[in-house]
Amino acid sequence: MSEQSPLELAGDDPFGPHNLPYGVFSTADDPERRRLGVRVGNHVLDAGATAAALGSPYTALLGGDGLTPLLTAGRTAWRDVRRALTAWVTVPAHRSTVEPLLIPVPEVTMRLPYDVADYVDFYASEHHATNVGRMFRPDGEPLTPNWKHLPIGYHGRAGTVVVSGTEVVRPHGQRKAPTDPAPVFGPSVKLDIEAEVGFVVGVPSAQGRPVPLAAFRDHVFGLSLLNDWSARDLQSWEYVPLGPFLGKSFATSVSAWVTPLEALEDARCAPPVRDTALLPYLDDSGEEEPGGYDLRISVAVNGQVVAEPPFASMYWTAAQQLAHMTVNGASLRTGDLYGSGTVSGPEPHQRGSLLELTWNGRDALELPKGNRTFLEDGDEVTMTAWAPGPDGVRVGLGEVTGRVVPAA
Ligand code: CA
Repeated sequence: MSEQSPLELAGDDPFGPHNLPYGVFSTADDPERRRLGVRVGNHVLDAGATAAALGSPYTALLGGDGLTPLLTAGRTAWRDVRRALTAWVTVPAHRSTVEPLLIPVPEVTMRLPYDVADYVDFYASEHHATNVGRMFRPDGEPLTPNWKHLPIGYHGRAGTVVVSGTEVVRPHGQRKAPTDPAPVFGPSVKLDIEAEVGFVVGVPSAQGRPVPLAAFRDHVFGLSLLNDWSARDLQSWEYVPLGPFLGKSFATSVSAWVTPLEALEDARCAPPVRDTALLPYLDDSGEEEPGGYDLRISVAVNGQVVAEPPFASMYWTAAQQLAHMTVNGASLRTGDLYGSGTVSGPEPHQRGSLLELTWNGRDALELPKGNRTFLEDGDEVTMTAWAPGPDGVRVGLGEVTGRVVPAA
């Protein structure tokens, strides 16, 4: 045993008892067995084993092989389980039970924490959409006429959402620059990232019953960082008129840790002022609770920070996105994941994609492994984030990282 208890964390530890994100892990001695864990400092607490050892009524919710039972249990259970977990890691009387059930993070393998049902991705940063519009439609208005009336989105591929740490194989596909006489096929030469936040649906909804803005937190359990890997050359040739397809669907990385919304109470903030009137189902001006989240994202390529996108600058909120995605009667399923869209702020160093950071390859970034416009094989992209927490302590979001490997 180490001399100091893993529960004796520094007061400003971003993964202290005020945070308690959930993840699913396995250990080297039993690699096939998946267990639900809660992160405490740099350890993983075996949540199911702890519940069982303490005779908790939540043993069934926490003792399975994933997060899904808790996701479906609903908001009251989310709150009650979180209270119990907080007590388990803070009340001295539990320490002798809990300490042996803590495993150092470097000793576990993290898994995808839930079965992704549907995956949807939005386009909610005005700065990102404006930058992309300027690059791709230089002769027109940067924002399309619908942009400020509805949160634009598309359906992605749930089956290729992967957990942080999974290698990303450079995709093949068709590309054709406007000046090329014909399309060619081969590995993408414009592989990019998109720094995003993914929202995880817990409680399903019935088909035909839209989810209003005020019900957002009855359905959405938590969030995690998300990297929407994007092959810009494939995307720009294929996306008209139905939107992104193979330029996106080869891989989407999510953090191994899902931060419950309850841990982010102190990070809530008002969204930016909108200059366009919204239809009633999207109008959040009368909502009691602010819909934004103040998440400070950092994007590093090969260990060097290249961008610091501010999530608080997003024009559309996650509640508006949920209301929009169900307003036609489409239902929600447990495990639905929706991406915020690339997070880009107003400043050049706040842009959440290489497309914007290099202005479509015009301005190379200087990096430790050499200058980059788009990603080279072997490059590693890591996104981290934190949010304001109680008493000035930060709430850390689990990182999402991935390394590009050569096309198969
Ligand atoms: Ca995206």
